[in-house]
Amino acid sequence: MNSRIWITRLLLISLMLFALAGVLLFSRVRSQPSSAIIASNPDPNIAALSSPKIEFQSDKQKNIPQPTPTPSVPTTASVKPKVKTPVTVQASKPQNPVKVAFQTTAAFKAYKPKYLIAWANATNYGERFTQDANGVPVNNEAIVVLHETTNSAYSAVNTFQNFHEASNDQTSYHTLITLDGTVVYLVPPDKRAFGAGNSVFDGPNRSETVQTNANLPPSVNNFAYHVSLETPPDGWSDQNSDHSGYTVAQYNSLAWLIAQSQVPENRITTHKAVDRSGQRIDPRSFDFPKFFNLLSSYRQMRVSKG
Ligand SMILES: [Zn+2]
Repeated sequence: MNSRIWITRLLLISLMLFALAGVLLFSRVRSQPSSAIIASNPDPNIAALSSPKIEFQSDKQKNIPQPTPTPSVPTTASVKPKVKTPVTVQASKPQNPVKVAFQTTAAFKAYKPKYLIAWANATNYGERFTQDANGVPVNNEAIVVLHETTNSAYSAVNTFQNFHEASNDQTSYHTLITLDGTVVYLVPPDKRAFGAGNSVFDGPNRSETVQTNANLPPSVNNFAYHVSLETPPDGWSDQNSDHSGYTVAQYNSLAWLIAQSQVPENRITTHKAVDRSGQRIDPRSFDFPKFFNLLSSYRQMRVSKG
């Protein structure tokens, strides 16, 4: 009799555990509804890329569904005037500040890259912090950090879409550009992608980095927009030497993407340049003059007196 009760209890307990496991599994699957690659119609008015820091021009045309509603944050970005205004200037009569902004060109409108949406698993990115781990407010202007996948775009997207529990495994870019120039959106620009670990941006005026976790080295992730180029196959096995480089379609799509931002050229950098781990050398074989040349054909500076 006693043993029967125990057997019943054991059965009940294992049933409950089973049910719990089922619920956990289900909620995990439910929490990544957008993890599948959604093939979308090529759309010239792409990029519902909105960010207080990145400020994409085609923000108004929200054609790309967001994984979560994007909170509207007051817009602060826009390139600062080249002339540094001393803090003490307030005593004199107010001046009309010169506003510098980029606007896209006809060439930008004519270029229509294919795109895919493949949102990363939510464990692989987070919110942008308004203050660092010590409670000090942070307000860095945005930077663009360029990477390469070192393997196929497919395997990179796969990695980002996997659930990663350990912070060491959590990784993502905002956007990836495949060899044929397809723009793959992975993390919304207003979110903090985990593209660079231990890193510092040596900016035009100062070194910039933000420690958001007291247990991890500071990084540029809090103010970075990470874009990665798919590595050509001849660069997959040997990760240390140069490779044949990126396709014309990749340079075009990259320039087209960045042309929508207000990030100035001196805030476009590489993972290699910001890395402080001594392990990152990407993107290898990247041609900056070629990229900047295309970028200037897709956006132009507009100066107005405000
Ligand atoms: Zn990288």
